[in-house]
Amino acid sequence: MMRLPKFTYHTPRTVAEAVKIIADTGPEAQFVAGGTDLYPNMKRRQQMPKTVISVMRPPELNQINGDGKSGLVIGASVTLTDIVENEIIKRDYPVLASAARTISTPILRNMGTIGGNLLLDTRCNYYDQNYEWRKAINFCLKKDGDVCWVAPGSSKCWAVQSSDLVPVMVAIGARLRLVSTLGERIVDAAGSYNDDGIDYLKKRPDELLVDIHLPPTNGWRASYHKLRRRGAFDFPVLGVAAYVRVRTPTSRDSDPVVDDAKIVLGGIAPSPVQVTDAARALIGSALNEDQIQAAAEAAYIKARPLDNTDFVYQWRKQMARQYALRALKDVRSQLGG
Ligand SMILES: Cc1cc2nc3c(=O)[nH]c(=O)nc-3n(C[C@H](O)[C@H](O)[C@H](O)COP(=O)(O)OP(=O)(O)OC[C@H]3O[C@@H](n4cnc5c(N)ncnc54)[C@H](O)[C@@H]3O)c2cc1C
Ligand code: SF4
Repeated sequence: MMRLPKFTYHTPRTVAEAVKIIADTGPEAQFVAGGTDLYPNMKRRQQMPKTVISVMRPPELNQINGDGKSGLVIGASVTLTDIVENEIIKRDYPVLASAARTISTPILRNMGTIGGNLLLDTRCNYYDQNYEWRKAINFCLKKDGDVCWVAPGSSKCWAVQSSDLVPVMVAIGARLRLVSTLGERIVDAAGSYNDDGIDYLKKRPDELLVDIHLPPTNGWRASYHKLRRRGAFDFPVLGVAAYVRVRTPTSRDSDPVVDDAKIVLGGIAPSPVQVTDAARALIGSALNEDQIQAAAEAAYIKARPLDNTDFVYQWRKQMARQYALRALKDVRSQLGG
């Protein structure tokens, strides 16, 4: 049985208290929300904080405010079950509810939070193993070793960003509010990730993610499609989020024109991958078959998965085209096409 290492545990009641504890304790401390990612990592000795600070009690992190008209603010400690079941999210941001429903299992979704999901550790077949397994291969660059077993000549870790909500948040233009004892800042989800499997977050370790701000849903629709081995539960080994905003037609005869679009790939690289050529293929015309095919082809070209998760990586690349097609066709049907 894998046991947790010893650690000191704090349960602050306010944001101010939480950020003060981490500022006073320094790099040996880490926040925890549901613990469904951090505690298994601690058991495998991948992450070893000496002090763990729960973020489940501050009321600010447990609220959902607003709606699709004004924009929605979701506290970072709102559980995935609450995201799946919330009536406003289901009505105004169905892409978020449906993506959250694909995460792990009902029991884990009762514990796991939206904030923990957006800050999930990166994953790799050579890293997501217990201590003895990793020791037997002399560890790897990401933790305790000095070689990458996926790309031995590389000085970079290619562990994969494997959160289902990250591509969705990047696609719909969500923003994250971060608070520390030094103050507060709001950053785009799109700019929050580094293309580096070890240093995967732009957020500083002392910054608490307090809430997530979703834009008003004026004229846009989105969809998320996930590739995984087991339909019941599994991490994504490819996730495609599609976002399309249309302009109302100027005359009764004309079709709505796409005035903004994003295709974001998850599960194939250390950070979410935005396919700018797909956006280019879509913007400026109606969401028709040719445009959708061109955007899906751009997703295929841009997808460069490595051999460090489930499935043959060349096949995962092929699937980027198929899943982009599915996501865009889904958006088209939401728009009434
Ligand atoms: C069997 C299994 C299957 C899973 N399947 C999936 C899946 O299909 N898709 C998927 O996306 N995930 C999956 N997960 C991962 C995980 O359960 C979810 O991503 C969950 O949402 C993580 O949230 P949490 O609150 O438990 O995170 P935690 O474990 O509490 O935290 C995760 C990270 O975020 C940091 N953190 C948490 N909250 C904050 C905050 N407010 N401010 C700053 N830092 C914070 C922690 O320090 C930690 O580094 C799976 C996990 C397991 C065990
Ligand atoms: S990509 Fe390389 S360095 Fe990173 S976790 Fe995998 S084997 Fe380790």
